[in-house]
Amino acid sequence: MQVFTSGVEQDLSMILANKDWRAQFQLDLMEQFPQATILAIKLNIPGNIKNNQSIERIFSEGWFRLLEKFNEVTILEELFLHRKTGPEGFIVIREDLRNAKIASVDFEQAWPLGRLFDVDVMSKQNLSGGQLSRTSLGLPVRQCFVCGAPAKECARLQTHTKAEISKAIDDMVTAYFGE
Ligand SMILES: [Zn+2]
Repeated sequence: MQVFTSGVEQDLSMILANKDWRAQFQLDLMEQFPQATILAIKLNIPGNIKNNQSIERIFSEGWFRLLEKFNEVTILEELFLHRKTGPEGFIVIREDLRNAKIASVDFEQAWPLGRLFDVDVMSKQNLSGGQLSRTSLGLPVRQCFVCGAPAKECARLQTHTKAEISKAIDDMVTAYFGE
């Protein structure tokens, strides 16, 4: 399975505009649900192709795995969006911020394709109004899916080529879907 062989390339301005859109969308959700915890889910994939059939498949598979981690009755809202800049989703949940973060990190680490996902967890009640980090909860930092080193280091040092990263993703996805 080759993930990045089709799809419309997104340029940096589109990706940045989407980032602004997301930040505003999250603020609006926090206003609408001031007591709840909000999970913002997106893929963490390099390059300019952010959406195609394979990418949608990976995302929706992860989306359902993540939802399974929470009790259905605590979920207030589920929004799955098919954006050109990539599929993304939001879950509004009546769940403690820390518990939601712990469940999300477990999904990112333990589920085979979890490292391809970014789940940000936030609530209006959180003091900073911002997102909870792994390190603030004493959880391990995110690992690079190519070499297992801290992902931030590999990103900063640009340790891996685009081809290496795409290959690692293809291998991971092929192993998972068995194709
Ligand atoms: Zn690495």
